[in-house]
Amino acid sequence: MNHEFYQKLADTSINEEIVSKNIAHQILTSSEIALLPLLNAAYEVRTKFTGKGVKVHIINNTQNGYCPEDCHYCAQAKTSDAAIEEYPLKPDHEIIAEAKNAYEKGAYRYCMVFAGRGPTKKRVEHLAQLIRDIKSKYPIEICVSTGLLDNEKARVLKEAGLDRLNHNLNTSERHYPEICTTHTYQDRLNTLQAARGAGIQLCSGMIVGMKETHADIIEVAYTLRSMKAESIPINFLIPIAGNTLKETSELTPNFCLRILCLFRFLNPRAEIRVAAGREIHLRSMEVMALYPANSLFLDGYLNTKGDNRAKTLQMIKDAGFSVESDHSIEDLLLNEQTAAVKSSYVDQTLIKGLKELRPQLRTDLR
Ligand code: SF4
Repeated sequence: MNHEFYQKLADTSINEEIVSKNIAHQILTSSEIALLPLLNAAYEVRTKFTGKGVKVHIINNTQNGYCPEDCHYCAQAKTSDAAIEEYPLKPDHEIIAEAKNAYEKGAYRYCMVFAGRGPTKKRVEHLAQLIRDIKSKYPIEICVSTGLLDNEKARVLKEAGLDRLNHNLNTSERHYPEICTTHTYQDRLNTLQAARGAGIQLCSGMIVGMKETHADIIEVAYTLRSMKAESIPINFLIPIAGNTLKETSELTPNFCLRILCLFRFLNPRAEIRVAAGREIHLRSMEVMALYPANSLFLDGYLNTKGDNRAKTLQMIKDAGFSVESDHSIEDLLLNEQTAAVKSSYVDQTLIKGLKELRPQLRTDLR
């Protein structure tokens, strides 16, 4: 494709016009569309609406396991045999201490995840109190992932100060029965509508790599556009032994980056998050995700570890992006004792020894 193609793509998105399904399909699949100019076009849109900042999220798995649902990708599902260490809801003081830690580590938003189908009225009231307590202590935005909510429960959470609700679509309506049988896609849409009706921002995205088709991916990007989702996490399935879904479909770094670009073009104002699985699926091209995406998780995911904090922060800094936080990225890195890490690199022996230089050398000649 020529330069005009990529420029038109960026302009269409910046003007908030819709990219056609045909072009969306080509973005994902066509070798005529080269990755670097595509990323550059997505970057133009990203910087137009979100500058060069990166929003850092830290997730708190407030309870682990005990979930009656059967989401096939999830280690906490009742059908999963994954070796997770289950625990009931953490005590309030622990959740609040972790909010403090997230704020001090540079998080823009603190995400509390509660496993389960959906909260009882009592649990919602408890959660509302937690939100009030955290908000009164730390200037940090709060997002919760609670499972299914109705209008009244959404209203109570909004009144307590909740900024966002996370409730991922995960995949298309067509594919949904393949990944979960205990609730429906429509249940998910209803929850998102309840949150929207209460004035809560929407955080809703997908998990790629669950044997969905290209059309399914495109469908999710269009649906989230129609819902004007403020935040769109794109997860790349992390295969966990013991889960119903323990293998990903083919995910190359090139394909993952194309998906992020597609979501950016269709959702130009959204906070696009390169979420779980960035380390294992983007591999050496991880940093390129910051061109279409403006958000990521620090410190791993719900049940799986990610890159360490220093490595992620250094990646953001090295690529010339900044962290949207009350703390500068330099201070955050200092706190992570990068200096110590750096000097330990220098201290480590980088000089090759005989074993590497002369692998054929007979030991009796050494
Ligand atoms: S994704 Fe949520 S609802 Fe589904 S099994 Fe996991 S914890 Fe339960």
